[in-house]
Amino acid sequence: MAEPAHDVIILGSGPAGLQAAIHAARKKANVLVLGRPEASGLYAAHIENYCCVPGVTTGPEMIAAGIGQAKGFGAEFINEDAVLTAALDNGAFEITSESRRRFSSYAIIVATGIKRKGLGLKGEKELMGRGISYCVDCDANFYRGATVAVFGDGSAAAHGAVTLGKIASKVFLVAPKGLNISSSLNSELKNDNVNMIFGQKVSELLGEDRLQAVILDNGQRLDIDCLFIETGAKGAMELVATLGVALDPERFTYILTDKNQATNIPGIFAAGDICGLPWQMAKAVGEGCVSGLAAANYALKKRRERRKGDDVDT
Ligand SMILES: Cc1cc2nc3c(=O)[nH]c(=O)nc-3n(C[C@H](O)[C@H](O)[C@H](O)COP(=O)(O)OP(=O)(O)OC[C@H]3O[C@@H](n4cnc5c(N)ncnc54)[C@H](O)[C@@H]3O)c2cc1C
Repeated sequence: MAEPAHDVIILGSGPAGLQAAIHAARKKANVLVLGRPEASGLYAAHIENYCCVPGVTTGPEMIAAGIGQAKGFGAEFINEDAVLTAALDNGAFEITSESRRRFSSYAIIVATGIKRKGLGLKGEKELMGRGISYCVDCDANFYRGATVAVFGDGSAAAHGAVTLGKIASKVFLVAPKGLNISSSLNSELKNDNVNMIFGQKVSELLGEDRLQAVILDNGQRLDIDCLFIETGAKGAMELVATLGVALDPERFTYILTDKNQATNIPGIFAAGDICGLPWQMAKAVGEGCVSGLAAANYALKKRRERRKGDDVDT
């Protein structure tokens, strides 16, 4: 069977995939990155909590810089998602892209991020980053002294309300089914700023350029500066589940890795949001670095072994 064309294929062109590409390519691995930069969580973000980059920088600026850097070290980019992965008999992997092109490599890094579950309401996509947020940890600071709402039933929503209770002047916690949280978290929620609304969903978003208010199922209007939607997320798990990659055993929502970002399947590594909380750029970049180095070492060793084997055969 022919040698794979690439050493490392990276699925995902967000911060985890880009940092992995930079480190793997600088190790002189032959690197291909698949994925759509504009689908990265970072694309809609304004970042002010990333070390050494003071002030607010937009996601598209950061992504463009990362792609330029990775290309400068020799990484190749294809603006398509992967749709299929398969293990080959020679220990390599085959990846099929949306346009049915096939690529092969000794190692894969899964950096496909997560898709936050939205409410599916009219205007939600347009108002993202302009009064709609899916991440309290990321955006709370932008709403100092403001009036905000958090939507969700679980501990992410409750933690979000606790955090915002210390930053915003007024917080509504809208829990459609009622809160499903520990008693200690429940007592943390007892803050004058946090107003609970149980058994209601958000049915309408009001505002053109920025969110101004939301309407609940019972017709109540909340005039707010931001709605934080904290209802969970899903990743592109099916891509790697077929290869036997182990997921968290309770909810199958993130990929399990060791300290080298290696999964249970030799040659498959993972980094970034798909490896679990916190969903933050700094974590994605750190894990990208580790996975890039580990995957390049793995792949280059495989290629050397393969070539040695070929020399002995001939
Ligand atoms: C509105 C918003 C604000 C945020 N603010 C902050 C903040 O202030 N600070 C902070 O630290 N973090 C913030 N974040 C979080 C941060 O953006 C993420 O933690 C970070 O982008 C995760 O990086 P990642 O590379 O793991 O995934 P992502 O950046 O989400 O990238 C995933 C990549 O995988 C690709 N992909 C998906 N499926 C496939 C497939 N089948 N094949 C190939 N590629 C695939 C996508 O196209 C994309 O390129 C924010 C996120 C959002 C949405």
